[in-house]
Amino acid sequence: METVSKYFGAHVFNDTAMKERLPKDTYHLLQQTIKNGKHLELGLANVVANAMKDWAIEHGATHYTHWFQPLTGITAEKHDSFISPATGGKVIMEFSGKELIQGEPDASSFPSGGLRATFEARGYTAWDATSYAFIKDNTLCIPTAFCSYGGHALDKKTPLLRSMQALSRQALRVVKLFGNEDVRFVETTVGAEQEYFLIDKSVFEKRKDLIYTGRTLFGAKPPKGQELDDHYFGAIKPRVLAYMKELDEELWKLGILAKTEHNEVAPAQHELAPIFTTTNIAADHNQLTMELMQKIAKKHDMVCLLHEKPFAGVNGSGKHNNWSLSTDTGINLLNPGETPAENAQFLLFICAVIKAVDDYQDLIRISVASASNDHRLGANEAPPAVVSIFLGTELSEILDAIEKDVPYGSKEKEMLRIGVHTLPKFPKDTTDRNRTSPFAFTGNKFEFRMLGSSASISDANVMINTSVADALMQFADILEQSDDFEADLHMLIRNTIKAHKRIIFNGNGYDDQWVREAEERGLLNLKSTPDCLPYLLHDKNIKLFTRHKVFSLEELKAQYDIQMEGYCKIINIEALTLLNMVNKDILPAVSGFIGELGRTYQQKTAMPFAADVSYEEGLIKELSALSGSLYQKKVSLEQAMEIRNDFADIGAQARYYRDVIFASMNDIRTVVDEMEDKTRSTAWPYPTYGAILFSVK
Ligand code: ADP
Ligand code: MG
Repeated sequence: METVSKYFGAHVFNDTAMKERLPKDTYHLLQQTIKNGKHLELGLANVVANAMKDWAIEHGATHYTHWFQPLTGITAEKHDSFISPATGGKVIMEFSGKELIQGEPDASSFPSGGLRATFEARGYTAWDATSYAFIKDNTLCIPTAFCSYGGHALDKKTPLLRSMQALSRQALRVVKLFGNEDVRFVETTVGAEQEYFLIDKSVFEKRKDLIYTGRTLFGAKPPKGQELDDHYFGAIKPRVLAYMKELDEELWKLGILAKTEHNEVAPAQHELAPIFTTTNIAADHNQLTMELMQKIAKKHDMVCLLHEKPFAGVNGSGKHNNWSLSTDTGINLLNPGETPAENAQFLLFICAVIKAVDDYQDLIRISVASASNDHRLGANEAPPAVVSIFLGTELSEILDAIEKDVPYGSKEKEMLRIGVHTLPKFPKDTTDRNRTSPFAFTGNKFEFRMLGSSASISDANVMINTSVADALMQFADILEQSDDFEADLHMLIRNTIKAHKRIIFNGNGYDDQWVREAEERGLLNLKSTPDCLPYLLHDKNIKLFTRHKVFSLEELKAQYDIQMEGYCKIINIEALTLLNMVNKDILPAVSGFIGELGRTYQQKTAMPFAADVSYEEGLIKELSALSGSLYQKKVSLEQAMEIRNDFADIGAQARYYRDVIFASMNDIRTVVDEMEDKTRSTAWPYPTYGAILFSVK
């Protein structure tokens, strides 16, 4: 086996490959175009495309695709081969600049929320030259943005790139105020930690619910779950280790900085963390990571579950979005500095995040909203649905001292004057090990922990970037006009802390007391997707997005529709799957088992001596009562499903799905799980939780 450093990035047309393959002047022109975010000229594109094609063919590629991220949240690709007919019945391999920079997938089947009128079925894809092309399955994949011909974003990448530009614009104004004239742009960086479950393929295939919905709709509690905490960071089983090894290798070939792999809290649950990188690349990489996780699991006769809550009563899976800001000169703006000026700049950026998260709690919540993630948020395992920020004791005390104008520091107590004093060194707060905070400062970055495991990280970062851009814009507006920078900066920081400290919470987010306190503080508690999505179209949010050119009003309306529809579709599929399982498998199985008990009962009572039939009699009574009740409940659900489309308003329909359909599903589940506990193992039609969770030996 080659050493990692040899094959790392081998499948990527990265900077090294470009330098090697492109004429010097083309290479420099391309770099310029990428850095300035300009459109690629056709002449230049032709040269790049040709070099890219030669490289790809040498690496075994026969096809190319514009790889994009439609609003379904997963990736899409349509493969075209490089072949082009030549004389003598032969073919040559061709790839033009035009094919590199723009594609026209037939986009009519991707969600557009009405943005793409049906008479204009085409959308187009355009190369995001900031994300390298790569080879996957003998196909050259070109990361692209996907838009309608009217210029509306139909994907996750376009708004993300726009939000990164918005943030850079405003952050640049602020860093210049601190004299950093050499900075040309500010980028956001993200490291996305990914949780997942691995189960054996044989049990997966026997569960219709896992196949159709990604989660179990039934399942009685196993005798052993996660209570012993013996899985977290435990020794990794050889089969899982082999999987992780192959996954790492494949990710490394794609230039993805997979770094840490370990077992998570629940049985069969694991985590992969990469080293952070620029946000849009981190988003591309996370999509590829999820795809490879699933693909490689199949090769190992396992299935990788990325659903947020595959098993009730067992921890679900999330994603931690570690986020920071960095200048092109390599300075992490969330790193407390060494000098008074650096410290002041650091505090101002911290304040921008505090203000942003408070002003736009609703958007932060919306960015992680989905039917599947609703199972986690607020379920005492993931952060609560209330958005708050954890700063740790040290930083909180510093902010407190600034706000109240009281001395800070244990030794020489003195007033902290921003821009004059150096902050005391504060270590990365160890109390951060409590995992209950949705948005935690972890020393030199914020860790946003509400994301669902299957989500695209783009949504969350669009919201964070845009809201922070807005706070920075407001700060820059004030400070650029200032005659006394230090005094005004001090006031600005003070006023921001005063106005937004309600969002800071360093305690235990699982505590019921916190939910009550949050309410008193006036913080939002948006429990479900139908609750939070309407906020997307609130005036302040429309203004925010249009001001920073991240979403137009039409795009926001489309987002709203698509997300509400997505919610309804998911619960619809789940309800249909549940009814199928109850009608075709569960009720017949239990009825059959009751019949069997009945026959035994008859045989026993016909015996020439008095045999005890209390077991058969008792169980027949219990199970027939349960199946009678299940039958009634499933008939009600069927009736409720009949009118599910009778809603003119998508929001009302989503609430109906939540309050009636979903509630009825939960009600049915309780009965089924009780039946499972009472039915003979071999008579139960599905593998149990125990069999699934401990299926990988
Ligand atoms: P831990 O959470 O175990 O303390 P780290 O803090 O080193 O580990 O990192 C957790 C994740 O945060 C990793 O994915 C890491 O790459 C990422 N990360 C570290 N620094 C930054 C940064 N400046 N910007 C974004 N992500 C970062
Ligand atoms: Mg983490």
